[in-house]
Amino acid sequence: MLYIGSHVSFDKKDQLVKSVKEAISYGANTFMFYTGAPQNTVRYPIDEAKTLEAVSLMKENGISFDKVVVHAPYIINLANRQNMDFGVRFLKEELERCEALGVTSIVLHPGSHVGVGASQGMQNIIDGLNQVLENYHGPVKILLETMAGKGSEVGRTLEEVQTILDGVKKKEQLGVCIDTCHLNDAGYDLSDFDAFLKTFDKIIGISRIGCVHVNDSKNERGAHKDRHENLGYGTLGFDSLLKVIYHPLLEEVPKILETPYIYREFPPYKEEIEMIRKKKFHKGWIEEKYGCETSK
Ligand code: ZN
Ligand code: FE
Ligand code: FE
Repeated sequence: MLYIGSHVSFDKKDQLVKSVKEAISYGANTFMFYTGAPQNTVRYPIDEAKTLEAVSLMKENGISFDKVVVHAPYIINLANRQNMDFGVRFLKEELERCEALGVTSIVLHPGSHVGVGASQGMQNIIDGLNQVLENYHGPVKILLETMAGKGSEVGRTLEEVQTILDGVKKKEQLGVCIDTCHLNDAGYDLSDFDAFLKTFDKIIGISRIGCVHVNDSKNERGAHKDRHENLGYGTLGFDSLLKVIYHPLLEEVPKILETPYIYREFPPYKEEIEMIRKKKFHKGWIEEKYGCETSK
């Protein structure tokens, strides 16, 4: 079965109920959310009544709860010693929040080394993750996201991701989230996705993949930029993204859209999910619906 959804919002008041309603409005059967704002670490207690309400709403609407994922805020950076204690503390709490919400996967950007070099950065991430997981015995897995290699980002090659996995003691608590835009921008050729998966399997192992971020890219392969584009409007193209989405080896893995809002205002997810289900790109749909030249 296809598990397809997008990034949705989560707010202080309605919490998961808000996320579920948004996912339903897109015709999704899974979703990803931040437990607060993506760009900060202000978090509120989880409201159990709201969570229960959300769970029954999910059941009624065919949303697979075990496929739902949380994304950790961008500003957590375990690669940098200066922010590490805060990051460790926050992630420990985030694991608790995931558990309270019944979510078993959390996507994490490995971090940026900001000057100390990639190998020191990776060592810092390993130390940080070991601290986060030291006394953790719950069901939540941390999924390390493959990065585009923008600035001093660590995790821009499969080898770097594997080095981090290798260094963490509780490997069973870790997985990987592949992001198609990031992989393209990092230099990987996704036009032959079978070949890519073979490479991935040799270096990391396909069974580690716990989430796929499906995004087209505004930039050429290897640009190290990380600018997401709407499906079919970028350099990857709709058909090669479809091959990722429908790859038989990834059938059980949730696919999450993080494509940009049209005019920064209108979510594209309902239409994108529809095209994915129909396996057919409606060329020019953004221009037709919003009357603009491009999605920017
Ligand atoms: Zn991400
Ligand atoms: Fe992503
Ligand atoms: Fe990104």
